[in-house]
Amino acid sequence: MQPTSLSGLPEGVGEALEAEGVAELYPPQEQAVEAGLLDGENLVAAVPTASGKTLIAELAMLSAIERGGTALYIVPLRALASEKKTEFERWEEFGIDVGVTTGNYEADGEWLATQDVIVATSEKVDSLIRNGAPWIDDLSCVVSDEVHLVDDSHRGPTLEVTLAKLRRVNPGLQTVALSATVGNAAEIADWLDANLVESDWRPIDLRMGVHYGNAINFDDGSQVEVPVESGEKQTPALVGDALDTEEDGQGGSSLVFVNSRRNAESAARKLGDVTRPRLTSEERTKLRDLAAEIRDVSDTDTSEDLADAVADGAAFHHAGLAAEHRSLVEDAFRDRLIKCVCATPTLAAGVNTPARRVIVRDWRRYDGEFGGMKPLDTLEIHQMCGRAGRPGLDPYGEAVLLAKDSETMDELFERYVWADAEPVRSKLAAEPALRTHVLATIASGFASSREGLLEFLDNTLYATQTDDERRLADVTDTVLDYLEANDFLERDGDSLVATGIGHTVSRLYLDPMSAAEMIDGLRAAGGADAAGAADPNADDANSEFAPSDEPAASDDEAAFVNYTREEDEGAEASDDSADEETDSATPETTDPDLSPLGLYHLVCRTPDMYDLYLKSGDKEQYTELCYEREGEFLGKVPSEYEDVRFESWLSALKTARLLEDWASETDEADMAEEYGVGPGDIRGKVETAEWLLRAMETLASEIGLDGVVQIREARKRVEYGVREELLDLAGVRNVGRKRARRLYEAGIESRADLREVDKSVVLGALRGREKTAETILENAGREDPSLDDVRADSSASAAATAGAASGDDGDGQASLGDFQ
Ligand code: ADP
Repeated sequence: MQPTSLSGLPEGVGEALEAEGVAELYPPQEQAVEAGLLDGENLVAAVPTASGKTLIAELAMLSAIERGGTALYIVPLRALASEKKTEFERWEEFGIDVGVTTGNYEADGEWLATQDVIVATSEKVDSLIRNGAPWIDDLSCVVSDEVHLVDDSHRGPTLEVTLAKLRRVNPGLQTVALSATVGNAAEIADWLDANLVESDWRPIDLRMGVHYGNAINFDDGSQVEVPVESGEKQTPALVGDALDTEEDGQGGSSLVFVNSRRNAESAARKLGDVTRPRLTSEERTKLRDLAAEIRDVSDTDTSEDLADAVADGAAFHHAGLAAEHRSLVEDAFRDRLIKCVCATPTLAAGVNTPARRVIVRDWRRYDGEFGGMKPLDTLEIHQMCGRAGRPGLDPYGEAVLLAKDSETMDELFERYVWADAEPVRSKLAAEPALRTHVLATIASGFASSREGLLEFLDNTLYATQTDDERRLADVTDTVLDYLEANDFLERDGDSLVATGIGHTVSRLYLDPMSAAEMIDGLRAAGGADAAGAADPNADDANSEFAPSDEPAASDDEAAFVNYTREEDEGAEASDDSADEETDSATPETTDPDLSPLGLYHLVCRTPDMYDLYLKSGDKEQYTELCYEREGEFLGKVPSEYEDVRFESWLSALKTARLLEDWASETDEADMAEEYGVGPGDIRGKVETAEWLLRAMETLASEIGLDGVVQIREARKRVEYGVREELLDLAGVRNVGRKRARRLYEAGIESRADLREVDKSVVLGALRGREKTAETILENAGREDPSLDDVRADSSASAAATAGAASGDDGDGQASLGDFQ
C-alpha cells in the first residue's frame, strides 16, 4: 500500500511521505488502515519497537484534522514531548499547528484551543481536565503512545482514568492506542472498544542471545565467538567486537543498557577506552567539535563528563541530561559518529536510536518496595532489545544479555529470550491511586454519587479485567470514607460533593493524603483557623501548578513520578514569579515558630515526596538530629519503638536536611557527597519541595491557617537555594545563588541596589563579565544597563570572591538553571 493511494489525508501528505522514504506502508500500518484508522475507528496497535507506530499515529491524527477535528497525542515521558512536537512540525506546511504542553504555559492551556495537534503527558492532560480546559471537549482523536504503561503502579492509573475521562466527555472520540507487544493486547482493545492490530513483524530481523564465556549463544542455536581476555569485562569485548566486524564497510555501533544514571556515566567513561583507538582522525576532529558543543550547553559536571566521553566516541544518555545534550548525542549516534551509547531504560521508550548491537548489561534494578535488586519485566527487556538493527544498514540486529555462569544463562533464556511479554494489568484498585482519582472525578463533575462513581470506574481497564467486582467498590468505599473524614468531600444522602478544599486539592494535583498531612501539621503547630480567611475563589493561584512526569531524580528512574510546577522547566521563570508574588494580595498570617526545616520536614512526610534512603549510620545520625531539633517539627515525633513510622520520619528528616542545606547555600558538590546523590537528585527533591510548599501556601491561606509568610519564604529559599538575605537578589533573572552571594558581599543587597549602585561595582562583583552584568542590570530594571566604558571595580571583585562560597572556581551558577 503506497502512501499516495491513501484517501482522507490532507492533500500532498502522501507525496511528502514518499519523499521521506516511505515507499510502502509497513504491514502493521497497512493493517491499521484496513481496520479503519483513516475513518475515525478506534484502534489498538500492538507491534514491536521500530515497526512504525509513529506513522500509524500520524495517519490517524492527519485524517482527523482533515475531517475538521483536533488531535491529542499523549506521550509516555515529558522528555519525549518536545521531540514528538518537532517530529510532527513537519506537517506545518500543510497548515497544521502543533503545540506542546508540558512546560511553561498557562495551566488551563487556553492557547491550545487553536492548535490542531497537542502533545502532552497523561498527568498534564489530567491536570488540564481538572482545571477545566475547554478545548478538551472538542477533541476528535486521541493517541496514547506506549499504552502498556497502564501497568505501571505509579503512572498507570492516571493514564487509565484520563483516557476514560476523555472518552466520557467526548463520545465520538477516536482512540488510537500504541503498545509494545504484550500478552493481552486483546483485553486493551476490548477496554477501548477498538479494533486490534497485533503483529510480530519487524523491518529488520532480530536475533536475541546471551553472552557467556567466549561466545554469544543465540536463540536459534547458533554461536558467535566473542572472546573475553582475562581481566577484561564482557561489555567492552562485545562493543569492540561489533566495531571490528564490518558489515557495510563500517563497524557497528552498540547501545548498552544499564540500571542507573551513575552506571551509564561510568560505563561510558570506560567504554571510551574501547572506542577511542578505533576512531579515524577525521572522526576525532568531528568528535572534538561535538564535545565543545556539549560543553557549551551548560557548565555542570555532567556536561563536562559527557563531553569527555564523546571526545572518545562514547556517550551516556539518561533522563537527567539536558534536552540539547540528549539530541546532540542521539543525532551523532544516528550519524555513526558516536560508536557506543550507555543508557538507562528511558532510551528504550520512544527515542529512535537503532544500533547494530544492543547489550543489556543490567537486567536487575534496585527496587525499594521489593527490598533489593529486582529483575526487569520481560516487556522492558524486549523494548530494549527491539532497538537492535538499523534498517537498510544491518543485515539483522543483535540483542545480547550477559551471563557470568551457565545457570544465569539458562535463567536469562527462560526469563527473557524465549518468554513472551507479560500481560498488562491495571493498577487502579489501589488506595493511593483511587484516593487521588476519586476526588478529582467528583470535583471535576464526572460523578456526583457513589453509583455514578462506580459507573464511571466501569469504563476503566480495571473493570474490563477484574473478576472480582466487589474489590473496586470496596476500595472506593474506603477512599470515600477517608476523603469525607478529611473534609475533602461531603455526602448528602446519595450525592457526593467536593468541598472547597477538596476542589483545591484536586486542582493542585496533590495526593489528598499529602494535603491532609500538611493541614494536620500546620494545625499541630498551633496555626488555629484564623478569622477572615482568604476567599478561595479570589485568585486562581492553583492554576500555577501543573504536573510533569519527569521521573524523580533517582537511580531507579523508571519507577517514580514527580509532579512539579510548570515554571520549573525554564530557569527564566523565576524572576517573573518573584515579581508576581511581591504584589500578591493574599492576606498574610504569620507564626514565628515555623522554621524552614520544620516546613521542609512536613512536605517530606507526604506521599508526594520520595524520600532519601537511610544508609548505614544514618539512623544514629538523624535520630540525634531529630532530638536536637525536636521543637521545629510540626506534629508529634513518633516513638523510637515504632520502627516503621520512626524510620520514615528519619528519612523525611534526611531529605528535609538536604533541602535546608540547599537553602543555606551549601556547595552542591559537598551535598552530593554528604547525601550520596547526584545533582539531578538534588534538583528532583528541590522541584518537588517547591511545588508542595506552594500547594501548602495555598491550602494554608484558603483554610486561614497561620504561617503563609513563612511557607512562602521557605519555598523561595529552596527555589533559589539561598539564605534569607539573598532572596530579593536571587529573584532577579540570571542572578542565581552564587552570583547573588558575590553581589551581596560586594555591598549590593537588593534588586533596588542593582538599579542604583555604581556599575563598576556590579561588574567587579561579577568578575568583569560584561555580558552577564548587562543582562542582570537589564533584568533588575536598570534604565541604562549598558556597560560601555565601565571598568570593573577591583575591590568589589575581591570582596565578592572572599565572601562567596568555597569551591567556586568559576562563574558557574549552581542554580537550578544548571540542571535544565
Ligand atoms: P516505533 O514507534 O514503532 O518504535 P517508529 O515509528 O519510530 O517506530 O519508526 C521507526 C523508523 O521507521 C522511523 O525512522 C520511521 O521513519 C521509519 N518508518 C516508519 N514507517 C516506515 C515505512 N512504511 N517505510 C519506511 N520507513 C518507515
